[in-house]
Amino acid sequence: MALDPETLNQLLDSVRRYVDERLIPLEEQVSRDDAIPDAVPAEMAEMGLYGVSIPEAYGGLGLSMVEEARLMMELGRTSPAFRSLIGTNVGIGSQGIVIDGTEEQKKSYLPRLASGELVGSFCLTEPEAGSDAASIRTSARKDGNGWILNGTKRFITNSRRAGVLTVMARSDTDAPGSSGISAFLVDARTPGISYGQPYRKMGQQGTHVADVIFEDVRVPADAVIGGVEGRGFKTAMKVLDRGRIHLSAVCVGIAQRLIEESLRYATERQQFGSRLADFQLVQAMLADSQTEMYAARSMTLDAAALYTAEGKAPMEAACCKYYASEMVGRVADRAVQIHGGAGYMADYAVERFYRDVRLFRIYEGTSQIQQIVIARNMVKAWTDAH
Ligand SMILES: Cc1cc2nc3c(=O)[nH]c(=O)nc-3n(C[C@H](O)[C@H](O)[C@H](O)COP(=O)(O)OP(=O)(O)OC[C@H]3O[C@@H](n4cnc5c(N)ncnc54)[C@H](O)[C@@H]3O)c2cc1C
Repeated sequence: MALDPETLNQLLDSVRRYVDERLIPLEEQVSRDDAIPDAVPAEMAEMGLYGVSIPEAYGGLGLSMVEEARLMMELGRTSPAFRSLIGTNVGIGSQGIVIDGTEEQKKSYLPRLASGELVGSFCLTEPEAGSDAASIRTSARKDGNGWILNGTKRFITNSRRAGVLTVMARSDTDAPGSSGISAFLVDARTPGISYGQPYRKMGQQGTHVADVIFEDVRVPADAVIGGVEGRGFKTAMKVLDRGRIHLSAVCVGIAQRLIEESLRYATERQQFGSRLADFQLVQAMLADSQTEMYAARSMTLDAAALYTAEGKAPMEAACCKYYASEMVGRVADRAVQIHGGAGYMADYAVERFYRDVRLFRIYEGTSQIQQIVIARNMVKAWTDAH
């Protein structure tokens, strides 16, 4: 449901102020300590940020996709670790329930996910199944009035903090490919679940990613999302489709910040008796970054509007994720270049963002997978029409 324009502007203003006054000053500390101060999750919960995509009926803010995108463009102006804190509750950790859950599942989980009391994680990737997600091997075997899960999930964001895991597992070994996969809602403290040590990552310090191991984990029959077996892969794809628009908005926000950092430095630093910003070759880099950020912003808002109207936008979401994640990589690269040697030093935010943004081209579908999704949709539409 859409907010009235005044309420939306107030929300965007308060997030902008929170980013500028509270989060940006914490960035270096978070990067150094690889930890977000304890007060921040509570502050974000107080602002309702864990529940932006959860309907009001279940305690969330119930933002439309366009509103969520605009909010993420604001939150994107700071280290992506802060966005990641709420990211799984807003996206992959809650949307399976919002989109396909039963009424009981919605009532049971969504209010606590919206308040931040419960953290949700999304367990799809496995050691042998990344881009080829339909080939997952984690098994769900029927046992009396429930299921037994076995398998390993790899690189799971927020898993060690999670209270509920959305786990994609193969419930029908006879069904081919993705049709044998079901999605389960699993209490993260169920006996038989263990967690790997957090990975040491290239960037985004403060966000933690770990493997989740399931050994004879017993879950009740009503844990299947929507109560429908064999629909788990479709649920996962719907969740990722939506998440691609969200991540594109985050990339736009970061690009805006990188452009601000570039402008600040280029107008302060002098060489050859002039500001860097007065050299046309530096201006060309600034202009390219602004143009590409604006293109990604326009695409993201357009795809978000389509999603808001139609409840899906698979090709457009993939176009945005592909373009925006590649765009922010180029903008980060130019920001480092504009800073010269200083841009290579950890004292400057652009060095950190340069490493942070690399992830956006990899997770929730690599750039190559987005290209495949885009082309597949194009070819299908053409074939259907001719
Ligand atoms: C920090 C981080 C957090 C993550 N969080 C989560 C999470 O919370 N939950 C979760 O389930 N997963 C998560 N992931 C996993 C992530 O989604 C996968 O890493 C990603 O989908 C790619 O899979 P892969 O790493 O196995 O790479 P692979 O699939 O092995 O791909 C390797 C390379 O081959 C390319 N490639 C693969 N197939 C094709 C093809 N058909 N055509 C062309 N090129 C191809 C890829 O594009 C890539 O360049 C996370 C990953 C990271 C790094």
